[in-house]
Amino acid sequence: MAGMPDAPSAPGRTVVVGGGPAGMLLAYLLARAGLPVTLLERHQDFDREFRGDSLHPWTLEQLDRLGLADRLLELPHVRARWFRFHTPRGTITTSDYGRVDSRFNFVALMPQARFLDFLAREAAALPGFELRTGASVNGLIEDPDGVERSAGGTSIGTVTGVRYRVGSDEHELPAELVVAADGRFSKVRRLAGMTAESMGAQTDLLWFTLPRRDDDPDDGDVDLYFGDHHYLGLLSGPGRWQVGYSLPKGGIAAVREAGVEPIRRFVAEQVPWLADRVGLLEDMNATTLLSVDISRVARWHRPGLLLIGDAAHVISPVGGNGILMACQDAVAAANRLVPALRAGTVGEDVLAGFQLDREPTIRQVQDSQVRTERKVAAARERGRPITPPAFLRWLTRIPAVRGRSARRNAYGPNPPWLSPALLGPVARIGDTDRG
Ligand SMILES: Cc1cc2nc3c(=O)[nH]c(=O)nc-3n(C[C@H](O)[C@H](O)[C@H](O)COP(=O)(O)OP(=O)(O)OC[C@H]3O[C@@H](n4cnc5c(N)ncnc54)[C@H](O)[C@@H]3O)c2cc1C
Repeated sequence: MAGMPDAPSAPGRTVVVGGGPAGMLLAYLLARAGLPVTLLERHQDFDREFRGDSLHPWTLEQLDRLGLADRLLELPHVRARWFRFHTPRGTITTSDYGRVDSRFNFVALMPQARFLDFLAREAAALPGFELRTGASVNGLIEDPDGVERSAGGTSIGTVTGVRYRVGSDEHELPAELVVAADGRFSKVRRLAGMTAESMGAQTDLLWFTLPRRDDDPDDGDVDLYFGDHHYLGLLSGPGRWQVGYSLPKGGIAAVREAGVEPIRRFVAEQVPWLADRVGLLEDMNATTLLSVDISRVARWHRPGLLLIGDAAHVISPVGGNGILMACQDAVAAANRLVPALRAGTVGEDVLAGFQLDREPTIRQVQDSQVRTERKVAAARERGRPITPPAFLRWLTRIPAVRGRSARRNAYGPNPPWLSPALLGPVARIGDTDRG
C-alpha cells in the first residue's frame, strides 16, 4: 500500500534512519551546521540494555569541541581508568587511561540511553533537526530514471526517500540523502539489496546485571576474567555491574538447559567479591542473549544512500569500541557531507570518499577482533583459560606500555577530527552556500 507523503521535504533534507550513537551524532552535526535533517527511530525512546556504555577520550574530546562534554559529564557516570585481564596466572593491566595526554584521561561509562537522550535534547534545540520516534522504516523510494548498473548487472535506482510506519499509518519522506544508521540488522541495507559478509565470530554473550555495593573495589572498571571454557566481561556503571558471560556461538540451548547455577558458580569463582550476590541472578529470564557478530558490507553506498556504523560494519563487543567506531563514522560522514549538502549535491564520489576514509580503520579493528575471537575459541576447545604469554605480563608492567595501549584504545587507528567547518557557531537553517 502506498503511504501518505509527508509535508513537502525541506530542500536538501537528509533522512537518517536509526537513533543509535552513529545516527544521533550525525543528525546532531548536520543540524548544527544549519542543514535540515530528520531522524527516524523505530523505538519510542532510546532505552537499550547491554549495548555498551563506553565513551572514550576521543568521543569526549569531540563533544568538548562542540561545547557539550562538561554538561554531559554532569550526568551520573563512572570513570574507568584501567583495562585489565584476570587470568589464572594473575592480573594483567593492559591499559592505563590515566596516562593518556587528554583532559579526558578516562573512559566514561554511562548508560547509552542517557548519552543518546542528552544528544537528542541538544539536537532538539537546533532549528533544522526533527526527530520522529516510533517510526520504523520499511521501504525505500527510488528514482527509476537515476539508474546505475550494479556489479551483478541488475539496475538499481537512486534512493530519493524512505517509507516508514508509525503504528498502522504509512508515511513517505523524500530526501536528498538517506543515511542508514539502523544497526547490525539494518533493514535499509536489506531493502537496498546490500549484504554484510560475516567474518566469523565464535562467541555469544549472555548479559545480566548485579547491584553495585559501596564496599566493592572502586577500581573495578573494565575487566575481563578468563576461566575454563568461559570468560566474563565486567563493566562498571552507576549503581550496578553489567556482567557478560561468554559461550560458544550457538551454544545457548545447552546453557539454558543447565540453568543459572553454573553461571553463578563461574562468577563466584572468578570474582569472589561478587559471590555474596550471585544468588540474585534468579533464573535465565534475567539474562539477555546477545549474538556477537563481526561483519562488513563491501560497498557502503548507492546513489542517494550511505551506510554508517554497524549498518556498514558490525563491531563485536570485544575491545568495547563499537560506540567509538560509530561516533567516528558520524564525524567522518559529517566532514564529507556538510560541504556537499551545502553546495547542493551529494555525488557518489562524496559517499565513496567516506568509505575510503573509514574502511582501513574498520578493517584493522575487525581483524584484531577476529584474531582475539580465534584465540578465545582455541583456548575453549583445549578446555583451558586464555593465558597471555609471559612476555606480555612482563611488558605490561611498564607504565609507558600501558599508556601506549590506552592511547590506542582511546582514539582507535587513524581517528577523524571534526573539521573547522563543523565547529563554528551553531548555523541557522539556510546559512548554506546555496543561500
Ligand atoms: C552485546 C553487545 C555489547 C556491546 N558492548 C559494547 C561496549 O561495551 N562498548 C562499545 O563501545 N560497544 C559495544 N557494543 C557495540 C555497540 O553497541 C555498537 O557497535 C554500536 O551501538 C553501533 O552503533 P550504531 O549507531 O551503528 O547502531 P545501533 O546502536 O545498533 O543503533 C541502531 C538504531 O537503529 C534503530 N533502527 C533499527 N531498525 C530501524 C528501522 N527499520 N527504522 C528506524 N530505526 C531503526 C534501532 O532501534 C537503533 O536505535 C556492543 C554490542 C553488543 C551487541
